[in-house]
Amino acid sequence: MNYTSTRNPKVSLSSAQAIAKGISPDGGLFVPQSVPVFGEGELRELIGLGYRDRAKRILAKYLTDFTGEEIGLCVEGAYAPGKFSSPEVAGLHTLEPGVEILELWRGPTCAFKDMALQLLPRVMTVAAAKTGSTDKIAILVATSGDTGKAALEGFRDVPGTCILVFYPVDGVSAMQKLQMTTQEGSNVSACAIQGNFDDAQNGVKAIFTDKAFEARLAGRGISLSSANSINWGRLVPQIVYYVSAYCDMVAKGTVALGDSINIVVPTGNFGNILAAYYAGLMGIPVHRFVCASNSNNVLTEFLQTGRYNRNRAFYTTSSPSMDILISSNLERLLYLLGEGDTLRVSQWMAELAATGGYDVGREMTRKISELFSAGFCDDKGTAQTIRETFETRGYLCDTHTAVALNVYMNYRKESGDVTPALVASTANPFKFCESVLSALRPELAAGSEFEMIEALESFSGIDCPPQLLNLRGKTERFTGSCSVAEMPGVVGQFLQIG
Ligand SMILES: *Cc1c(COP(=O)(O)O)cnc(C)c1O
Repeated sequence: MNYTSTRNPKVSLSSAQAIAKGISPDGGLFVPQSVPVFGEGELRELIGLGYRDRAKRILAKYLTDFTGEEIGLCVEGAYAPGKFSSPEVAGLHTLEPGVEILELWRGPTCAFKDMALQLLPRVMTVAAAKTGSTDKIAILVATSGDTGKAALEGFRDVPGTCILVFYPVDGVSAMQKLQMTTQEGSNVSACAIQGNFDDAQNGVKAIFTDKAFEARLAGRGISLSSANSINWGRLVPQIVYYVSAYCDMVAKGTVALGDSINIVVPTGNFGNILAAYYAGLMGIPVHRFVCASNSNNVLTEFLQTGRYNRNRAFYTTSSPSMDILISSNLERLLYLLGEGDTLRVSQWMAELAATGGYDVGREMTRKISELFSAGFCDDKGTAQTIRETFETRGYLCDTHTAVALNVYMNYRKESGDVTPALVASTANPFKFCESVLSALRPELAAGSEFEMIEALESFSGIDCPPQLLNLRGKTERFTGSCSVAEMPGVVGQFLQIG
């Protein structure tokens, strides 16, 4: 199966080429030319398998130029026993009958980004070899906090690669920052930027599409790639866990095979919810996708009205990984719903770049509303949901998961839709300890990060993951910062190209 660009139908690349490149030179995103579908028999077979074997089957449908052995090695390495603190890798927790929490944060950096970023470096190095490239792969990442650490950890000391992460100086939690500044490895670096996540993402995108910069690198045997969810290689592993979770819901008896579910996702760059949408296209029966946002509710408005408008206040919230006004992966949804009309997608994206907004019109808005529901909640609502979920269900959730639960409970109340729901839980609560503790016991939310962790542990009776606790006292290696304009210079220095 080949991949094309959301902005140019003439593009046709193998999966290895699409993943090695990351983003199309026309500025578009790579998408499969058709979506593979699971028949009911195949789905039934998946139910009997474990996570790794399910992953191999699903990946094989997208990475058609990889051998079964190559996929097997990537998957066994990424999800090796012991790497994730759950034997199921991404398991379910029943919040109440009919509401399953999909715990995606049991990996090395405690956020759902590990699900993809443990696999991506493996897939990417195989992909590069397949394309015949001997270049060093330089990964540039813009992060709202979690991608950065997960990518640093995934690519650390991977031969033939190096990685540089840009994060917003005031836009990440204390723990997220510490995770990045203390990163070990010989091929890694991180830099704060004076701006927000969108500035970081735009800065990185500009470097990727800068032909002169590319030429300078090519002469030195370096090619750039992306570990952000603009890279297709980030999305495929995320499709896996939605398919797998549906299988688990059937196995548990929450639904019968063929019954529909609702999928609720706390959303920023629209990557995670887009992966859920692809799982639906592959044959997982989904009644509604519920898109949950924080106060940066540009997606809520868009999904409800068809008007995308980023010209609005930017809020720094207690769910920083969703503090985003330009949701890159929406472009892929528009491509899919517009049946591959790349001209219209290009026009909307040009309008977004020029004016900060676009309107997809009535027909497209109708299509969206048949599939998606959207809602948002502010920090107060987030805190209230953390408290209620802990007090009434004994479940400790992080701020992003709380946004999803808050929006879902409102959706269910307003719509009366009681279809069994799968709620994506995207981070371990100890990653956002101050906010979680403030929600539960504000008087305890004081002192150093590690004092708060101890307070949250003793109040909740839940242990902080060792990979976070072990950062205490660790040397901070990367303390630099730069302006957006200085980003190309920082990249140049990191790659030692003068
Ligand atoms: C990245 C992230 C999100 C948002 O995911 P998108 O794919 O950008 O929509 C939500 N929660 C957490 C904890 C994250 O790290």
